[in-house]
Amino acid sequence: MHGFPDDNTSLDDLERLILDYSAERMRYDPPPLDRALTPEQLQEAAGTTITPQGLGGQAAMDLFADVLAPACLSVDHPRYLSFIPCAPTEAAAMFDLVVGASSIYGGSWLEGSGAVYAENQALRWVCDLVGLPEGAGGVFVPGGTIGNLSALVAARGRARHEAAQGTRPFRVATTSGAHSSIASACEVMDAELTPVEPDGRGRLNGPRLREVLLEHGPESYFAVVATAGTTNFGIVDDLTSVAQVCREFGIWLHVDGAYGGAGLAAPSVRHLYEGIEQCDSFIVDPHKWLFAPFDCCALVYREPGYARAAHTQKAGYLDVLTETSDWNPTDYSVGLTRRARGLPFWFSLATHGTQAYTTAVEKTLAVAAFAEDEIARREEFELVGERTLSIVVFRRRGWSAADYQAWSDRILDQEFAFVVPTTHEGETLARFAIVNPQTSTDDISAILDSMG
Ligand SMILES: *Cc1c(COP(=O)(O)O)cnc(C)c1O
Repeated sequence: MHGFPDDNTSLDDLERLILDYSAERMRYDPPPLDRALTPEQLQEAAGTTITPQGLGGQAAMDLFADVLAPACLSVDHPRYLSFIPCAPTEAAAMFDLVVGASSIYGGSWLEGSGAVYAENQALRWVCDLVGLPEGAGGVFVPGGTIGNLSALVAARGRARHEAAQGTRPFRVATTSGAHSSIASACEVMDAELTPVEPDGRGRLNGPRLREVLLEHGPESYFAVVATAGTTNFGIVDDLTSVAQVCREFGIWLHVDGAYGGAGLAAPSVRHLYEGIEQCDSFIVDPHKWLFAPFDCCALVYREPGYARAAHTQKAGYLDVLTETSDWNPTDYSVGLTRRARGLPFWFSLATHGTQAYTTAVEKTLAVAAFAEDEIARREEFELVGERTLSIVVFRRRGWSAADYQAWSDRILDQEFAFVVPTTHEGETLARFAIVNPQTSTDDISAILDSMG
């Protein structure tokens, strides 16, 4: 690595600045929640940061530490329960520094074999959780959105390869509970998304799926997307009956476990996923409920050859890579250049062992169960839907949408908690997403108290 000839900060200084800051940030317990500033406030506080001569490392670091970082919410704060939080282990977060410092190209075996080997071991653990056979595999991509898109592109490739002459499968079936990235992938692919009405518990099931497929002709579909843990409620589709219908018609089954896939590691909820072993592709985001830092999605295929056929980029300057039988991660998803982004997850798994993951996921499930019980016990609250995994959605009786928003703004303003409302069937509701093992039952009680 190199500095610049006109460098105004020594390597020693940089090392101290960056490692000290990182170590200190990771020792915060809890970290400050922090809050967003307006562009005007940031302009005023930070001003122009890029100058011809440079600020020097110390001033740039001070600017980050004093102004910019406090204007970013700490997604690992134990009372950050919005969207899906991210609570990496120290091992994973610190190893991210190592990945950055190591100048590894993670796209090809030729260039990154050691990293790819380690990433593939972590992917194998994911395949084992799902129950995929030997030969299954895939790649770590930036997130569930790219993972879903990549899987659907592979599915379409297979369907069009196998389709009878003159038919071009162009449809995808899923429920309204599926993540917005499925609709987005269909937009990108110019595919048509067919909604399937969920059952009384919000799940995609086989009989309803079958009806919808028959309505348009199953040969017009190239994929069915089932969700293992919906983002809003944590609902797991009825995977056994869905898989059966997919098999009947030879349609690719993709299971989106971006959030909920982590529950596969928890014996107390593992039964909910029965049938998942029949999927053709699967994603889970370690940056959600598997304690890895952003950005990291594990994408795996039952038969990776279909993905390779769909995604391998061909060019004279790549022949040396593509004309081999090597495992090149880049051939299994949209994208070419890639960071070995699975390594922080791998390092943490290798360090702590898989049992620690089971324990941590079970802990968050127990805190979610506590939240559910508290909500049932307290007069002013009412649970909405069922709690399946670690997401709890509930109503504060008598509150309007404006009341939820005012409460949410107030507790963030106080840097006490970050809990944004959600909506379901037009109604504004409160929602906890609990994926941080440091979120305690006391945190839950305190947040509920704040809605009194
Ligand atoms: C979060 C989520 C996604 C999208 O993942 P990103 O990593 O945010 O791109 C897809 N599906 C489900 C079910 C999710 O919860």
